[in-house]
Amino acid sequence: MSDRVFAIFQESYRCLRPRADMPELTVEFYPFTNVHSNIRLRDGKLHVRLSDLLEGAPDRVLRALAHILLAKMYRKPIEREHSLHYRRYVSSRLIAEKAHLLRQARGRKFIESAQGRFYNLESIFEDLNARFFGGLLARPRLTWSRSHARHRLGHYDPAHNAIVVSRIFDDPRVPRYVVEYILYHEMLHLKHAVKLRGSRRCVHTPEFLAEEKLFPSLAKAREFLKRL
Ligand SMILES: [Zn+2]
Repeated sequence: MSDRVFAIFQESYRCLRPRADMPELTVEFYPFTNVHSNIRLRDGKLHVRLSDLLEGAPDRVLRALAHILLAKMYRKPIEREHSLHYRRYVSSRLIAEKAHLLRQARGRKFIESAQGRFYNLESIFEDLNARFFGGLLARPRLTWSRSHARHRLGHYDPAHNAIVVSRIFDDPRVPRYVVEYILYHEMLHLKHAVKLRGSRRCVHTPEFLAEEKLFPSLAKAREFLKRL
């Protein structure tokens, strides 16, 4: 772990919680499949994992990210300026290119598209990202499945950093909250994903399920899917 990054997180913690004790803290760069970062509190210790794509990021960007992660952890408001700095950097050409190369290195080209006949997965993704993830998730490839598969509503493929949603839901008879729910579920997989070397596991930890409950139309959406 670099001292510079460690110091930035300590400072940021101090700013956010001036009177609280400084917890034990670890910060490491981690080979996520995209520009993703997370923070966990376990036994009073803070563990931060940052995407290794951010390894050379300027202090300003790391300070912004430290603020965002810690504010989320302690349920404080995220300062607009920080979230702007961070997002601007992540969507900058250099980072976008690096992320692109990373995905290319994993091969396979997607010809499918996020734009269905009725729903656009990209705009639904961005909407959910802003509402539930503080805009922090880097957008993976999003695509409607080629077939009208019923057995699989959607899945996140970590090896190709792609979310695929079954095409049967790209239909005007399907309410938007159902598509949102399916995508939200896969976005949680994206958020909790680590490199799985191509395996496609669908892991629902208690933490995952608790977060899924935050989706407002969860019961309605499940009811709809059951009737399908
Ligand atoms: Zn799942």
